[in-house]
Amino acid sequence: MVMRASINSTTIELVQGDITRQDTEAIVNAANTSLLGGGGVDGAIHHAAGPGLLAETRTLGGCNTGDARLTGGHNLQARYIIHAVGPVYRPDDVEAARLLASAYRRRLELAVEHGIKSIAFPAISTGVYGYPLDEAAEIALETVISLVAQSRDIGLARFVLFDARAFDVYSRTLSAMADKKEDLRLL
Ligand code: ADP
Repeated sequence: MVMRASINSTTIELVQGDITRQDTEAIVNAANTSLLGGGGVDGAIHHAAGPGLLAETRTLGGCNTGDARLTGGHNLQARYIIHAVGPVYRPDDVEAARLLASAYRRRLELAVEHGIKSIAFPAISTGVYGYPLDEAAEIALETVISLVAQSRDIGLARFVLFDARAFDVYSRTLSAMADKKEDLRLL
């Protein structure tokens, strides 16, 4: 399943799949503050990238919630991994929403600093960290779309959804946004 939209010179893509198998220049990891690996996306990325990744993340000294760090991709097809730490969800917590938006913003800033033109994101914070998919989709898509629309540095922003339900929620959110934003067009 694939859904595409464009805004200025950037393509926004939704796909159902595995983040470790993406051919974008960078993929994003849903890391924890230690950056030393964990379950879910983090475990899958460390497994696929190999032990060189852990050796590199050990040198970084962790990462605060809402922030991001860049490493090499090691055994992955992607050249870089951007490790971002999302917040743990609590209902009606505006701080969690701010930190989730901040994690997306920091990833894009790091990508632009390193000249990265294509990037793939998993649905950060929607697994063990408990963020409801519809709220997370809104924050992820709003933050990324508004930033890429301003900067024009990123050619492709791909959201990789692990299952059909997540794909469905993201695609409905993207369609609703395209109805409201004149410069966002479904392809
Ligand atoms: P967090 O701790 O930030 O909540 P998780 O890794 O627990 O992160 O889950 C984040 C989301 O990623 C979940 O929606 C989960 O279904 C999804 N996911 C798990 N494994 C993969 C994978 N290999 N590729 C893409 N998405 C994945």
